Amino acid sequence: MDCLFCKIAAGEIPSTKVYEDDKILAFRDINPQTPSHILVIPKEHIGGVDEVTEENAAVVAHIFAKIAEIAKQEGLIDGYRVVSNVGEHGCQSVRHLHFHILGGKQLNGSMV
Ligand code: 5GP
Ligand code: ZN
Repeated sequence: MDCLFCKIAAGEIPSTKVYEDDKILAFRDINPQTPSHILVIPKEHIGGVDEVTEENAAVVAHIFAKIAEIAKQEGLIDGYRVVSNVGEHGCQSVRHLHFHILGGKQLNGSMV
């Protein structure tokens, strides 16, 4: 499958890693929208939130447990935002499930 984030997960395309274990990878966004902008992905290919099922949801719980740790490690003590864009209306540009951690400054109160 020709998937950018599968290639990053496999180490075929380099990334600035923030956290890695056997199931997930966190790395810095190549085009950061905030001073701290990290992407967290499962290593297995899941297309997006719309492909999360009872069968594969355990990795999502694991991602969220690690998001809390990564945010602390990143020093985001005043808060941050976690976003996952889905499909065309959600402006998802990479069709591999990922969660953006956005922080390091006061974010806009409007989500859209
Ligand atoms: P989406 O638009 O799908 O929610 O988010 C995709 C994100 O992936 C974007 O924020 C974009 O900057 C980031 N991105 C795209 N290509 C690369 C890449 O090759 N390396 C890294 N680190 N981030 C990428
Ligand atoms: Zn993939």
